Parts: sequence; structure tokens; C-alpha cells
Amino acid sequence: MRIGAHVDQADPLAEAAARGAEAVQFFLTDPQKYNSPKPRADAELIRASELDVFVHAPYIINVASPNNRIRIPSRKLLMAHARAAAELGAKGLIVHGGHVGRGADLADGFANWRKAFEYAEKDGGLPLPVLIENTAGGDNACARRFDDLARLWDAVGPFGAGFCLDTCHAFAGGEELPGIVDRVKAITGRIDLIHANDSKGAFDSGQDRHDNLGSGKIDPELVVAAIRASGAPAIVETPGGVEGQTADIALLRERAGN
Ligand SMILES: [Zn+2]
Repeated sequence: MRIGAHVDQADPLAEAAARGAEAVQFFLTDPQKYNSPKPRADAELIRASELDVFVHAPYIINVASPNNRIRIPSRKLLMAHARAAAELGAKGLIVHGGHVGRGADLADGFANWRKAFEYAEKDGGLPLPVLIENTAGGDNACARRFDDLARLWDAVGPFGAGFCLDTCHAFAGGEELPGIVDRVKAITGRIDLIHANDSKGAFDSGQDRHDNLGSGKIDPELVVAAIRASGAPAIVETPGGVEGQTADIALLRERAGN
């Protein structure tokens, strides 16, 4: 069982070591901006490390958007991040499911997702798995409710899309955690990564507010059960820096067993 943390991008290897992590996730750029990743001085070291490496794409990416001025740069930025993440030997690039906005038709969002994968294929193909993550909220989200996720998967499944299950987002998004891995797998056929987070927001609140395990509204045993059932690596995206995340990793290791 590979357990790790989302850490600052300046020195992810040192951050992982400080937490005793076996997996690590980081951004390559400012997550709120349309910046393309630059080559990293530590690329060789990251590639050579024993860690399971995951890269999180910027939050600003929304390939589902009906707005050209958001969707087109989002596709390009996703592709640039996929190439840069593959250069680091990453196992996957995590990107949020996106949304179409209030009053828009979700069907357009799913069609735009399909186009994003078609665009990637024309542009030389994705050099690593893109893992679509479920979200807690967003106006007309593509991957919040699992009935919508099923429609999304009709569009992206044939392209080999991967899935990242965030326990905070599922809970705050209104999906019950008991049995969740089986329900997801019935739709996607796979879970590539678990984001093991507690939730400050209540069930179905739509609030994306992560908390340390056992400090929020989720029973930590349900997070442990999801990791176990999935067999996937887990990343905590929790507050509290080295101390908070080390405690979360320790809790998961202790209860999930190796
Ligand atoms: Zn997450």
C-alpha cells in the first residue's frame, strides 16, 4: 500500500522524505494560472526516486467548458502538463472533472471531454494516464454525482481515461462512502488513485474543504476501507504541513495495514 501526500512543488522529494511518504503529488505551476510547466532541475532525481509520483493539473483547467476562451487554453494546458509530468516519470496526471456552468447543458460538457481526448490523440497522444477526479461542487459539474460520472465515462472511457477518487469531494458532493469503490468501479472499471481527505463541510454541502483524517465529518474507517478496497495508492491533501500530513499518513498505514 503506497501512501503519500500532496506537497509544495519547490522540493517534492525533500517534502516526501520529511513525511515518510511512499507516494507524492505536486503542481508544476501556479494552479490558478494558465502557465505552461518549465523544465525542472530535479527532473532526473524525481525520475530515479522510488516514490510513486503524481502531478496535479492546475485547477483553472476546465476542458468541459462551453466557453471557447476557457476550453481551448484548458486543452492545451492539459497537454503541456501531460508532457511535463511524463518527463518526470509520473504515474498519472490528475485533473478535475470540470463543469459547464449554471444553466448550461451537461451533455455539452461530456461532449467537450470527448473532444479533449480527441485533441490529445491528434496532438501526438497522451504520454501518461490522465486521471479525472470527482469534485465536491461546481455549477453543473461533470464528475460530482455518480449518475453524471456514468455519462462522462461513456464519453471518455473508450480513450483510456483513469479515475482519481477524492473521499472529501465524494462526501461533500453527496455520494455515500460505504461501498463507494464498488459503485465507482461499476462505472469506470478502475480507480488509479485515492485522495484520502476528511471533509470540513457536511455531507452533500458542495464544499471543497479538506481536513485532517478524524478531524472532520468523515469516519476515518470509511477512508481506510476505500483505500483497501481500491488497492490504489493514496495521497492525503490535508492541512497542517509536515506534522499534519505525517500524522494522516501514519493513521492510514496503521489502520489499512501493509
Ligand atoms: Zn483531491
